[in-house]
Amino acid sequence: MAYQLIDGKAIAREVRIEVKRRANEFFINTGVKPKLAVILAGDNPASQVYVASKKKACGWVGMESASYEFPSSVSEKEIIDTIYALNEDKSVNGILVQLPLPKHISEENVLRAVSKDKDVDGFHPMNAGELMRKGANLEPCTPAGCIYLLKKAGALLSGANAVVIGRSNIVGKPVAMMLLRENCTVTICHSKTKNLKDYLQNADIVVSAMGRARAITGDMLKKGAYVIDVGINRMEDGTIAGDVDFESAKEVAGAITPVPGGVGPMTIAMLMNNTMIAAEKQYG
Ligand code: NDP
Repeated sequence: MAYQLIDGKAIAREVRIEVKRRANEFFINTGVKPKLAVILAGDNPASQVYVASKKKACGWVGMESASYEFPSSVSEKEIIDTIYALNEDKSVNGILVQLPLPKHISEENVLRAVSKDKDVDGFHPMNAGELMRKGANLEPCTPAGCIYLLKKAGALLSGANAVVIGRSNIVGKPVAMMLLRENCTVTICHSKTKNLKDYLQNADIVVSAMGRARAITGDMLKKGAYVIDVGINRMEDGTIAGDVDFESAKEVAGAITPVPGGVGPMTIAMLMNNTMIAAEKQYG
């Protein structure tokens, strides 16, 4: 069966081009560039790569970035004090805390410290609550990227059966809320779900955020399904695999994202978009 490859890299580029245009307009109107502050604690190599690519993306769209890097021994207070200072700093429009934080630090306390108006990751409980009620001004980047990809690929969301695999606060739950807002009938599956395949066989839309390499195979999917693979699983040979077994899934799916080159680039593009939204809102 011919499938549509959902090219996240190309679609993310389109989003970044539009943000670049808005950032330029913002500079013309205000005389300043939008600015993202990134907090990184510890020496997790993957986090370092993510922070570097976020800073690179800022430069690409014409925004400024500043990183605040701490050793893994940093105290929770030190991080929260830094966030409070950035909340007050008018030159900073967006604040991102790279997760995971070192184990002795409460993510909950740190994320709550970020001003809700600068919360470009959309993780503040206030923004999370607004997402559930009516849609938030700043919504989590990866879930927003998934919805963007589905729409761009031409998925008919209203009335579709959507299955989300994973119920984390950063991907599974928010993407389920967004699909519900698009009038999908949403089922959330997780590690205690029995017979995952039974749910998938009825799913027009699948968003997988479980973090299990190639766990979703073609025989589990409904013919023609739109499959968004959020998973990033590092393999022993150093490569990255998604949650979906691309080779078998593409024989059944109507449209599918690759890993890498699918949701990953969209996450960064949506972060740029959120920083732009935050800056525009702060300047009225
Ligand atoms: P979490 O570990 O927080 O959540 C994983 C979820 O998957 C949990 O809800 C868990 O269920 C569920 N799960 C685990 N095993 C199974 C199973 N066998 N069957 C069904 N459900 C299962 O991960 P995140 O949400 O943070 O991330 C998910 C994946 O997405 C990871 O691979 C991560 O690297 C990737 N990711 C990619 C991003 C991108 O930009 N592309 C951004 C963020 C994450 P339970 O709740 O019961 O434990």
